[in-house]
Order: sequence, then structure tokens, then C-alpha cells
Amino acid sequence: MSDCIFCKIVEGEIPSDRVGENDGAIAFRDINPEAPVHLLVVPRAHSKNISELSQDSESMDAVMSLMREVSEQHTNGHFKFLFNTGEEAGQTVFHAHGHILSQGAS
Ligand code: 5GP
Ligand code: ZN
Repeated sequence: MSDCIFCKIVEGEIPSDRVGENDGAIAFRDINPEAPVHLLVVPRAHSKNISELSQDSESMDAVMSLMREVSEQHTNGHFKFLFNTGEEAGQTVFHAHGHILSQGAS
């Protein structure tokens, strides 16, 4: 998706503060943090939301695995993993992404 900001971050065309990656996903710090720890876990392959992502089991596994890894490294183990889905629910970037939100760093 040439006009997708998270595809550009995956490709490195737009810089990000990357905290982890695997074959199918990357994790980076949210540019506008809403909690002391605010990370985004993003599949490398474009899908528009968590419902579409759930049909791609390899990407889904990669996202869940990276969530586990970066939450262990960057939070105190107490966190939310949130997927806003649809404009009315607050989704503003239409490339699936999970927010890791935690009050405490590890
Ligand atoms: P949504 O509202 O779609 O669930 O979440 C989109 C998130 O992406 C927001 O929290 C917003 O701050 C973050 N974001 C948008 N553009 C960028 C960017 O260019 N870099 C980074 N690191 N985060 C971004
Ligand atoms: Zn994309």
C-alpha cells in the first residue's frame, strides 16, 4: 500500500523508534504516547484491521509473539493490548496495529 504510513515505517521510508522485530511484525514507540509505555505492534504485511489480520495466521502469530517479547522487555508485566477497529472506535491508521499501553516500565 503505497500511501500507508505504517507500510512506510515497516519499509524504513519513515523513521521510527523501533524496539523489536521478527519475520512478520515490527514494534516501535507511539509518536504521541498516551501512557508511560506506549508501543505499537504492526504486521509487516498490510491488512486494514485486526479482523482482516486474523485471517493471516502467520502475521497474527508474528504479532502475538512480538507482543509477548516487547511487553516482557519494556513493561512491568501489567499492560493493555488494544486494537482500535473502525473510525467510530478511534482507528486513525488503517494498517492493523496493536497498542501496548502500560503504566510501568520494566
Ligand atoms: P489508532 O488511533 O489508529 O488506533 O492508532 C494510531 C496510532 O499511531 C496513534 O496512537 C498515533 O499516535 C500513532 N502514529 C501515527 N503516526 C505515527 C508515526 O508516524 N509514527 C509513530 N511512531 N506513531 C504514529
Ligand atoms: Zn500498510
